[in-house]
Amino acid sequence: MTRPAILVTGGAGYVGSHACQALAAAGWLPVVLDNLVHGHAEAVQWGPLEHGDIADRARLDHLLETYAPAAAMHFAAFTAVGESVADPGKYYRNNVAGSLTLLEALRDHGVGRIVFSSTAAVYGTPETVPIPEAAPKAPINPYGQTKLAVEHLLADFAAAHGIAATALRYFNAAGADRDGRIGERHDPETHLIPLALDAASGKGPPLKLFGDDYPTPDGTCIRDYIHVADLADAHVRALDAMDAFQAYNLGTGRGASVRQILDTVERVTGRAVPHDIAPRRPGDPPSLVADPSRAMAALGWKPKLSDLDTIVATAWAWHQRG
Ligand code: UDP
Repeated sequence: MTRPAILVTGGAGYVGSHACQALAAAGWLPVVLDNLVHGHAEAVQWGPLEHGDIADRARLDHLLETYAPAAAMHFAAFTAVGESVADPGKYYRNNVAGSLTLLEALRDHGVGRIVFSSTAAVYGTPETVPIPEAAPKAPINPYGQTKLAVEHLLADFAAAHGIAATALRYFNAAGADRDGRIGERHDPETHLIPLALDAASGKGPPLKLFGDDYPTPDGTCIRDYIHVADLADAHVRALDAMDAFQAYNLGTGRGASVRQILDTVERVTGRAVPHDIAPRRPGDPPSLVADPSRAMAALGWKPKLSDLDTIVATAWAWHQRG
């Protein structure tokens, strides 16, 4: 029996490749469209890789005719906050204009279900934590602005064209596939856990801990780390629970400080994490923690692998293969 196809833009990237794995396990055929600017061809293991760009309408028309997907998952985007500040045009062109081209193509080919990879960056610096979906949207960088703009596009397309669209706002995606087949690989790497593992293994320099004078219990920033396989699971569940435009936070509801992450890395790896205290990184709010209750209720979703030990152990296993 042929499996129904799901178009996965950006399926060669970190969260997208884990979503493909989860889609295949649920009986779908993930068809990846990725320009491989940041994605990795070897991460595409559960269906065809179509090398191309979401901004290429002719390419989209051909793909949508060939595979007639039942739905689309849209991960393709540039995601580096610092770069978005330095070169906003690149982000608006790729993330917003590219998404518009994709949405119009999906609409014209009758693909009426879209799951969108959004971010807690739409909230900017929140007034209170944990953060519910209704909290003010006030991104503090162009990356967050582009993700919020696409949410607006989706909401307007849903209203005008009867499309069902779900935006999943990730907090801090972390960890790797338990089988060690795929994991996190950014170039350059800017994220805490891979950099801490690099420092612990001696593959990278000592970690720079950005600020220990925040108004938090140990003075370091608090984030809500969510295992990438739990994110992937939420995407598959969203396919069955779609209704007009909806947005859901994906996090655990529990915060962990940078120092708690470093302690976990030391315990799990059995190695010290060399680190230096550095100045605060511009744009880092002291605390970002999700209120995930809406996703839990509507999607029947619950994080299963997002305790810090499992996150770090799976990331460490992946790190040691690289
Ligand atoms: N962080 C750090 N040193 C690093 C990278 C990150 O101290 O080299 C801190 C950062 O200030 C934040 C947390 O680790 O409080 C998570 O940062 P990351 O870049 O992984 O994710 P973000 O929260 O920015 O999406």
